[in-house]
Amino acid sequence: MGSVHMNLNAQKIPYELDAKKNTTVTYQELVDYYASLLKGRKDAKIIDVGQTDVGKPLQVIVLSKDGDFDPRLIKAKGKAVMLINNGIHPGEPEGIDASMMFVRDLLTENKLPDNLVLCVIPVYNIAGMLNRGESRVNQNGPNEYGFRGSRQHYDLNRDFIKGDSRNSRLFQKIFNTWDPDVFLDTHTSNGADYQYVMTLIETHKDKLHKDLAPYMKSKFTDELYKRMEKVGFPMVPYVNSKGETPESGLVSFLESPRYSTGYAALHNTIGYMPETHMWKPYQQRVESTYALMKSLFDVSVKESKDLVALRKKIKQMVVDQVEFPVSWSLDTSHVDTINFMGFESGKKKSEVSGEDRLYYDRSKPFQKQVPYFSSYKPNVVIKKPKAYIIPQAYDRLIELMKTNSVIMRQLGNDQVIDVEMYYISSYKTQSSAYEGHFPHHSVEVSSKKMKVPFYAGDWVVETNQPMNRYIVETLEPQGMDSFFNWNFFDAILSQKEYFSAYIFEDTAAELLKNDSKLKKDFEDAKKADPKLAGSGRAQLEWIYKRTHHYEHNYGLYPVGRLL
Ligand SMILES: [Zn+2]
Repeated sequence: MGSVHMNLNAQKIPYELDAKKNTTVTYQELVDYYASLLKGRKDAKIIDVGQTDVGKPLQVIVLSKDGDFDPRLIKAKGKAVMLINNGIHPGEPEGIDASMMFVRDLLTENKLPDNLVLCVIPVYNIAGMLNRGESRVNQNGPNEYGFRGSRQHYDLNRDFIKGDSRNSRLFQKIFNTWDPDVFLDTHTSNGADYQYVMTLIETHKDKLHKDLAPYMKSKFTDELYKRMEKVGFPMVPYVNSKGETPESGLVSFLESPRYSTGYAALHNTIGYMPETHMWKPYQQRVESTYALMKSLFDVSVKESKDLVALRKKIKQMVVDQVEFPVSWSLDTSHVDTINFMGFESGKKKSEVSGEDRLYYDRSKPFQKQVPYFSSYKPNVVIKKPKAYIIPQAYDRLIELMKTNSVIMRQLGNDQVIDVEMYYISSYKTQSSAYEGHFPHHSVEVSSKKMKVPFYAGDWVVETNQPMNRYIVETLEPQGMDSFFNWNFFDAILSQKEYFSAYIFEDTAAELLKNDSKLKKDFEDAKKADPKLAGSGRAQLEWIYKRTHHYEHNYGLYPVGRLL
C-alpha cells in the first residue's frame, strides 16, 4: 500500500501536501522532483549550465513540444522563448513552488504550445536556498525558507552587470543562449500594507525600446492586469511610496541594468518582476504567482508570432540607432493618478520606545485615487562612436562582453589610432560598501581627440550590432550601471608618479625663466586663485601639471571612441 500511496503523491509538491499550505520545497526535494517529473520525456529536458558558487549546478528546465532543445533551431522555426527565473531571493519562494506545479500541469495535461518554448530556472541562488531559516521577520510564512544572500553574501538581483558571482555569469550565459522574448523573475515585497496580494514591476516603459514599450503595455501589461483581476488577484504597480504611506503617491520603480528586468531591457526583452505582498498568507501568494505565470505564458503564446517579428525588427533598429540614453531621472512634472486599494493608516504611541509609530488598520480598507509618478526622462544621452577600442588588459570586462553576445575583433598589429578619449573630470563615490563595491555615480567627463597607441590583441567593438544598448550603457562612464561606476577602472583614478619638491623647485624656477607665456599664465592664475597664491606646494603642482613629465593617463578613461 505504501508504494501505491507514494506513487499517487509523486507528482505533488510539499506545498500541496501540507494541509496548511505553508511549506516550501527544500533544495534536494526540488532537484529530485524535476528529475522524476521529467524522466523519460521527449518534450522536456534538464540542462546543467555550470557550477554555482556553492558547487551545485545551475539548472534550466526546458519545455519544447517537438523535442527540439537547440536554441538556434528553435529561433529559426520562429518560436518565441519565455524564461522564468526563481529564487534569486530564496526567502521569497512562491515562484519556486508555483513553477513546479506549472511545469507539471503543462506536461501532464499535454498543454505545451507549438509556438513557444518555456525555460524555467528552478532556483537561481542555490546557496541561499540551502541556507534555510526564518530570516524575513516581516513575512507571513512559509514555515521555513531560504536566505536572500548568495554564498558570498551578494544580492544577486544587483549583480547583472558587474557579474561578481558565478551565478550571475551563468545566468548571463543562459539569457544570451536563449535570448528570451519574455522574462519573468519572481519575488516577494517588503514595505507598506495594502489590500493587494500581487504587485508588479515591469521593464520601465521609458527604458524599453520606444517601439516595444507601447506594444508591451497594450498587449501584455494591460492584459495581465485584466486576467489577474478576473481570477481574483487584482494587481497594482509595485508599491514604492513617495512619502511614508502609499496614499502620498506611488513612484514607478526604475530598474537600472543591475536588476533582472533592467538587464533584460538591454537585450530588448519584455521583463516582469512580480512582488507578492509579504504579509498575505503563503497560499494566496503562491496562487497569485501561479496565476500570473500562467497569464503571462498564455499571453505570450497568443502573441508569439507578433512578438518574435517585432523583436526582430527592433534589433535591426538598434543596430542603426545613433543616440542612446544611459541615465534617467524621475520626471516629477508629470503625474498620473491610479486607483489604489489600501488600508487606513495612523499614528499611535510605541509600546517599545514611547515615540509615535505608524500602523495600518486592516479593518478599514479604502479605495481611492492616489498620485502616480510613472515617467522618467533621460538625463545623459550619448551619441555612439563608430567603435570602441578596449585594451586587452581588462579581461573580466571582455569576458562579460563576450557572454553578452557582443561581436568583437582583435587588432592584428600595434598601431597609433586617432580616437576620442574621456578624462573623468568629476565623480562621487558611495561612502560605504555596497554589493562588494564602492560604486561611483554623478560622473562628469571631458573629451579630447588624441592619437593613442593600441596593441595587437586589443579589442574593437563596432556599434553596428543588436547588442548596442549593452555596449553603450556599460562602456560609457556616465551610464547608471556602467563598468566605470562598478569600479572596473578605479586604477586610473590615482596618480602614479609625483615630484619631490626639493628637486622640482629648481626645475620649476628654470621653466618660468625660460617660458614667458608660462610665466604670464602662472601670474594670472595666482591673481585669480587666492588659494594658489597662498600655497607654495600648490604653485609647484600647477607648474608640474604643465610639464611633459606630468602623467597624461591620470584620470584618462582607457576605452577609446573611434569616430
Ligand atoms: Zn526579491
